[in-house]
Amino acid sequence: MITVQEHLSRIVDTVQRLPSIHLDLLDAQGYVLAQDVTSEVFLPGFRNSAMDGYAVLAADLMDASDAAPVTLPVVHDIAAGSTQVMTLSAGQSMRIMTGAPMPDGADAVVPVELTDGGTTNVIVSASVAVGRHVRPAGQDVAAGDRVISDGTRLGPRQIALLAAVGTGQVRVTPKPRVVVISTGDELVEPGTRPGFGQVVDSNGLMLTAAVRALDCIAFGVGCVPDDAGRFLSTIQSQLALVDAVITTGGVSMGAYDMVKEVLSSVATMRFDRVAMQPGMPQGFGVLGQHKIPVFTLPGNPVSAMVSFEVFVAPALRLMAGRLQQETSMVTAMAAHDWNAPEGKVQFARVVLSRIPTHDGPVHTVALAGLQGSHALGSLARSNALAVIPADVTSVRAGDQVSCIPLAPVLEAS
Ligand code: AMP
Ligand code: MG
Repeated sequence: MITVQEHLSRIVDTVQRLPSIHLDLLDAQGYVLAQDVTSEVFLPGFRNSAMDGYAVLAADLMDASDAAPVTLPVVHDIAAGSTQVMTLSAGQSMRIMTGAPMPDGADAVVPVELTDGGTTNVIVSASVAVGRHVRPAGQDVAAGDRVISDGTRLGPRQIALLAAVGTGQVRVTPKPRVVVISTGDELVEPGTRPGFGQVVDSNGLMLTAAVRALDCIAFGVGCVPDDAGRFLSTIQSQLALVDAVITTGGVSMGAYDMVKEVLSSVATMRFDRVAMQPGMPQGFGVLGQHKIPVFTLPGNPVSAMVSFEVFVAPALRLMAGRLQQETSMVTAMAAHDWNAPEGKVQFARVVLSRIPTHDGPVHTVALAGLQGSHALGSLARSNALAVIPADVTSVRAGDQVSCIPLAPVLEAS
């Protein structure tokens, strides 16, 4: 038996970030930047007004007040988009719009609300500080600044910044393409009602969806019976098309567990019992000319899902270039007692809630229901996995428990 950490280390030491590609900026949404981007421009690119109002010299309005308003001539109108370089002299004002370039000589903007809004002359009833409502060039980004680093996942906010500094195309890590192969004579395709002794291939859809939830590309090839030849030809036909393979079923100790049998002859595959519950039988290795990572997950649905979260998801994130640690553990207080197996890490399916108290919000954790590795009902109800260390055999109400969130935490009322 090996530890969860040993199995995970073997995986993350083996898989590699995929070679980068070029994409148009908008097409790069959800991808991870595979370069540092340095700005060649200043943002703002020019000194501009933060308000609709009047560009002035603050000194001209030093004594302006409600009781003693100051009148200035309005010598020009400057709209956003104006490309003319203007110069303002002492004693003048220019009407200016938000984002329009400040005239040289002006050092402040009086918002239109503090004036009579005049177009020939303007009456100003308040003084203004030097620099007020003026955005200096380069205040946000300076030319030469690194604006986004290698390894950053691109969402709307990052795309906006890259666009603003003039980026049209970016180098990104491609999204891993993953094939999911379900094995088992008992399996029938989703959308069919199972007969006696039959089981719907829910793992196929679950794992495909799990891959997609990580923003990777998933293909399903349906279910393959427990037939060594069929399995081998299916996996071989996929190796040229994908960056990773996930199989489920056929890796335990049963008489027809042929995934293990077929792949055991491949030198780079390893099959181990991992000290965890659920998910004990695990296999991992690389296959084919391009050394495609292959994850052979157990067939029990909960085991397959837990194995995906614990072993496959970190590998896919790494392949996709997501270098930053993303899964933040949440510590929560056990709401009730439960038992855990000795010598194995328990990944319990739990409901994580946030409860308001006088001392601020507290996270609590309760079992989501039946904990069998076949129990899809409680799996679907859960929003986290509680991670109970191998040496802990009982959790008591009030204990602090580490959890891997799988979905947003529920707000208890
Ligand atoms: P195995 O790992 O092949 O021994 O399968 C263990 C259990 O998981 C059996 O009860 C199978 O029926 C069930 N199972 C295996 N594969 C799937 C699947 N693709 N979808 C749903 N259940 C499955
Ligand atoms: Mg099976």
